[in-house]
Amino acid sequence: MRIDVVSLFPDMVQDTARYGVTGKAIENDIVNLTLWNPRQFAKDKRQTVDDRPYGGGPGMLMKVQPLRDAIRSARADDNGWAKVIYLSPQGKQIGQQDLLRFSRLERLILVAGRYEGVDQRVIESEIDEEWSLGDYVLSGGELAALVVIDGIVRLIPGVLGDSESNQQESHMRGLLDYPQYTRPDIIDGKEVPKVLQSGDHQAIDRWRTKQALGRTWQLRPDMIESYPLSTDEKRLLNEFINEQALKEE
Ligand code: SAM
Repeated sequence: MRIDVVSLFPDMVQDTARYGVTGKAIENDIVNLTLWNPRQFAKDKRQTVDDRPYGGGPGMLMKVQPLRDAIRSARADDNGWAKVIYLSPQGKQIGQQDLLRFSRLERLILVAGRYEGVDQRVIESEIDEEWSLGDYVLSGGELAALVVIDGIVRLIPGVLGDSESNQQESHMRGLLDYPQYTRPDIIDGKEVPKVLQSGDHQAIDRWRTKQALGRTWQLRPDMIESYPLSTDEKRLLNEFINEQALKEE
């Protein structure tokens, strides 16, 4: 997959993407990350990349010409079709299923805004979709682009060692992940659940499914409400709820 990022702070994106899973995917040529700095497309001596908003008001906007040229150059740099996304607090909030969809694309261009944002006409002519991290305002789109890149790259087949390792992760199947434990088997008197030490894989799977359902019910009732529970899962969730009630007595 090829990911291009249009940003006034390309080093911020490139340096951070060098770490962990994303760094490995880039190193192994599974992902190509290319940065485009609108400043390099500025035509004046001072390489101006901001401009005043019409109508006055606080702050500046990204200057149209360098930003537009940077986006167009990123698009034209490869024959393949690219989806162009503007990271913006006005976009739809991005979720795991959106990341999964993006991870299947061959090309993605992420546009990181700065200042007070981008001229509306540039959004209309150059951007395919606007996506937000959430209902809060960041100073720039770079961190948002990095979050999206990180979330996407781990979903590309071949990136994570164990091909199954993201299947049960929180949000992948509409549930939160089950609790996990590692050594030692006792910490401060608290023991790892016996079933996980039993070696009985069927019992372990059942326990994990029950915990995933139960945690989602406890922590994210909104998610459990829209989750299509099978008969077996309904039974497991009821068991979890009854066990909780007994604990609380
Ligand atoms: N004036 C804009 C508004 O109120 O909608 C906010 C501009 S913000 C200070 C600068 C840039 O940060 C935006 O252009 C966008 O790229 C990025 N940004 C801010 N909050 C974001 C969020 N929640 N999700 C994604 N990107 C965000």
